[in-house]
Amino acid sequence: MFGKGVVAVFHPTTRSRLQVAYSAPGDLGSLRKDLPELRRRLLPTVPARLRPYLEKKLDEHTETQFLRVVVTRMERWHVPGLLFLGDAAHTMSPSGGQGLNLALRDSFVAANHLLDALRAGQPVDARVFEKIEQERRPEADALQAVQTRVHRMVMAPLLVEHLMFTVLGLVLRLSKKAAQGPGVAAVEPRYGVPVSQLPA
Ligand SMILES: Cc1cc2nc3c(=O)[nH]c(=O)nc-3n(C[C@H](O)[C@H](O)[C@H](O)COP(=O)(O)OP(=O)(O)OC[C@H]3O[C@@H](n4cnc5c(N)ncnc54)[C@H](O)[C@@H]3O)c2cc1C
Repeated sequence: MFGKGVVAVFHPTTRSRLQVAYSAPGDLGSLRKDLPELRRRLLPTVPARLRPYLEKKLDEHTETQFLRVVVTRMERWHVPGLLFLGDAAHTMSPSGGQGLNLALRDSFVAANHLLDALRAGQPVDARVFEKIEQERRPEADALQAVQTRVHRMVMAPLLVEHLMFTVLGLVLRLSKKAAQGPGVAAVEPRYGVPVSQLPA
């Protein structure tokens, strides 16, 4: 983390490749077409040992994906005949790496309620959609609140940012016991093989 919203993450990925996530405020779309500017901004964030390799490899053939990071939500997750789940209902940022889990849990809960209704010969209508939303909204709201707080911390100047994350780390370590409390109830699909019983 480099302060004022600049974050770079480096991760080994398939076929011995390196995945680089570079995040900064503003519109980064133009960087994809402006290699010198991309190098100027990205390379100083690369750990020294890695930099020569990236410097050599980063060119117009480098695969890139441009993603906007936003945290937004729908006021209501359904309209007649249509239910929104996952990012469609509550767009998640990368912070904490929870967006995928949340989307999966939304779909488990939706499947549970939809199949309950279908098997009971009841209509799949606003009443069913509302049950799904009511069950899932609290976790989505809570995680989005955390992501928004982390975003504010990441936007701070470098020194403040590091101080805040150091304090947060200490607080989390001290409150580890509290964090091991009941937390979020486990979500399992009721129709099908429970996730815990899937082969490793
Ligand atoms: C930069 C970034 C990094 C992130 N990193 C992480 C992370 O490390 N861990 C984590 O848990 N979360 C992460 N998130 C959040 C996570 O990506 C989302 O919360 C998650 O992908 C939501 O899943 P989803 O299935 O709801 O939506 P999506 O993953 O967006 O899936 C929707 C799919 O629908 C497809 N689609 C759209 N329109 C149509 C159409 N008309 N017809 C057919 N298909 C269509 C799209 O192509 C897409 O494949 C990150 C988010 C961003 C922006």
